[in-house]
Formats: sequence, C-alpha cells, structure tokens
Amino acid sequence: MEQLLEFYARMGISPGVYAYGEKALEGLKERFAAIDQIAEYNQAKVIAAMQKNRVNAACFAASTGYGYDDTGRDCLERVYADVFRTEAALVRPQITCGTHALTVALSANLLPGDELLSPVGAPYDTLQEVIGIRESPCSLKEYGVSYRQVDLLPDGGIDYQGIRAAIGEKTKLVTIQRSKGYAARPTLSVEQIGRLIAFVKSIKPDVLCMVDNCYGEFVETMEPSDVGADMVVGSLIKNPGGGLATSGGYICGTRQCVERCAYRLSAPGLGQEVGANFGVMTAFFQGFFLAPTVVAGAEKGAIFAANLYEPLGFRCVPSAGESRHDIIQAVELGSEAAMVAFCQGIQSAAPVDSSATPLPWDMPGYSDKVIMAAGAFVQGSSIELSADGPIRPPYAVYFQGGLTWYHAKLGILLSLQKLIDNGLVTL
Ligand SMILES: *Cc1c(COP(=O)(O)O)cnc(C)c1O
Repeated sequence: MEQLLEFYARMGISPGVYAYGEKALEGLKERFAAIDQIAEYNQAKVIAAMQKNRVNAACFAASTGYGYDDTGRDCLERVYADVFRTEAALVRPQITCGTHALTVALSANLLPGDELLSPVGAPYDTLQEVIGIRESPCSLKEYGVSYRQVDLLPDGGIDYQGIRAAIGEKTKLVTIQRSKGYAARPTLSVEQIGRLIAFVKSIKPDVLCMVDNCYGEFVETMEPSDVGADMVVGSLIKNPGGGLATSGGYICGTRQCVERCAYRLSAPGLGQEVGANFGVMTAFFQGFFLAPTVVAGAEKGAIFAANLYEPLGFRCVPSAGESRHDIIQAVELGSEAAMVAFCQGIQSAAPVDSSATPLPWDMPGYSDKVIMAAGAFVQGSSIELSADGPIRPPYAVYFQGGLTWYHAKLGILLSLQKLIDNGLVTL
C-alpha cells in the first residue's frame, strides 16, 4: 500500500516504524479473529435485548424537568438489564462518571457500622477518597463505614486464606475491581471473579458482591453479573457508551440493590421514577449498540501496543502473548521523559486537539502528578484513544481505547515514532 505509506510519512511515521508494526501484525491474525468472534456474539446479545424490549423511535425523545414517564430511559434500563442478565439497571446521564456510579452503589448499600472489603488489593485511585483510605469530607469512613483490604499474593493470585480471615460479622459488601486500574497487577477474568464471588458467598451468603466493571464490558462473552455479582458498575464514557454517550454511568444488579442506588442518586421516596434524559437517549442506545465492535477495536489496539513495545524491552501488562480481560494496556516506560513522548505521540494522532501538548499535571482525586493524552470528541472519554498514567515508578503509561482499530494503530505507531525521534529507543 504505497499510497498509505506516503500518507503516513506525511503524518510523521517513518517507513521503518511502519514496517516494524506490519511485522508485529503478521503474528496477530488468529488473536484478532478470536476478538471478532466475541464481538459478533456480543453484538447479537445487544441486538436481541433491543428487539425484546421493542426499542422504537419514541425511545429517543427528550424529557425534561422531573422526567416522569420517560419511556426511552426506562426501556434503555431494561435493555442494559437484559444484556447484563440482571433484574434491574440504573443508566443515567445524572451519573457523572465511573467514580460517581461506584460511590452511589457503595453508599446506597452500606450503612453505619457496616464493613466494606476489597479482596483484590487497593481500589482505583479515585475510590480511596470515597472510601476514606485518604481522608476526605463525606467519605464512607466519615459516615461510619469501615474498610478492610486483602492484597493479592505476590504472584498476582487471590489470597483465599486472607479473605476467609477478613470476612467478619460486620462485612456487608465486597468490592471487586475487574480491571487493574493504575496498578501493575493482572486484570481478573470473569471466570476468576466468579470463583471469588462463590468463595465469598460460601463463607457469608448474605454478603453483597459488587464488581467495578470499568473497561471490562464486552471484552468477554460473559459479564461478572453472569457469575453471581449482585451489582456491576461502570462508566458510559468507557466501553458501554460506545464513544457516543456524552456522559453517564450504569449500575446493573438485583432489584433490591438497584432500587437503593436509585434512592441514593435522586432522593428517598423518588428513586428511579425521576430523572430527565435531556435528549441523550439516541446516543445512549446507539452507543450501546456500537459498543461490542468499538471494544473489539480498542482491544486490538492494546494487543498491538504490547506486541510493539515488549520486544523493545519495555515490560507490558498484560504481556504481549497473554490473554486479555480488559482494554487497558500498561507499558512500563522507565522514565518521565518516555511517558511524555509516548503521550505526545498519542495526542498527535487525535482527530480533535491534535496540536495540544500533554504535560504532567496535578489532578483532583489523584495523589501523584498525572499525564494524559486525549484528543477526544467527549472530554475525558477513555473509550476514545487515550493514554495516561501517574508520574511515579515504574513510569507506566496506561493506554486504552480507540473508536476504530485504525485510529488505535495510528496512535501507537506515532507514540513509538516520538520515542525514536527523542532518542529514547532504537528499532
Ligand atoms: C475509570 C475507572 C474508574 C472510574 O473512573 P472515572 O474517571 O470516575 O470514570 C473506576 N475504576 C476503574 C478500574 C477505572 O478504570
């Protein structure tokens, strides 16, 4: 494809970098085919749920004010509940982000005197203030909810003995983070999550199991709610929004848990009946419809990145050949300079804000400086091609997203090009 090579050259990609990428791709055909099969299954799952719930043009109407009798909103929630195979779902633009969705799920289902347990190590950075691991006004700790944590074993495995010892009379809710977040631990597979939930319930059957499902949706054919989770929670500007949702979050789960979440989100007595949709329904439905293939493209990008960087001596989590359970790829770059170059490459591939220069910055909710590359249609959307990471050893950049595989590929090639141009790596 001489034409493409010429075009890429004008965008700054050298023939050497392009050839290096093509060579890596040759070995990835089978894995990409397997991803396409999962996407095909998930696409059918979403379409079937939309057909069953008779999605129709009236579902796309805007509602305002209280949002009473919002048939589109109610229909979308039934579609989510069917896809996640749960009794109920809360899918709202009023949920600001993933952290907000998780906060609603936790604070709705934990009362003073209850204990929250994380059996998979420290939760995602922003949740530390929510829980009160780092002091913050209005944390769960301030409301009398205690917290306990069991770390993963040194090999990344689950410490079942430690969990057995940590579950006590006060233990009310177990929070399981599927994706690694900003940690270098492995992401959990749905099967592993199922085993963990079964173990927890065998010790204490009435414990609620919540899964932070961020970045995991549609990567496998099953979701954590298929293997016993009482609640699965995530952000609509990640996987399930398909790049079209402009804000929002979801909580799918048992009727009892989701009802409590609705009372917490709006007000006791009001619950799920209120909440205008402000005209976002087309984007929410259509984004969910596109999500399985968007996630497949992002996953291909993540695998491509690992297969480019690992042979150059950078540790990748997951490693180049490892099976995957989310769309995040961590690449340990070893220095702040390399993180900056990588992110600047991703930024320069963007359809929006491509001339911006990402630099390390203090961010609310994060304890270290963070660098973020994102040239997104939706601010902060990380199902769109993006890279970020806290500036601390091992200087890992977390790469994710790409609404199309070709955009993800372009971004990764440009990131490598920037590292080469800055003398940080040679092919
Ligand atoms: C993104 C994410 C969250 C929530 O982050 P927001 O930026 O608030 O949407 C929580 N947990 C994990 C594992 C995440 O990846």
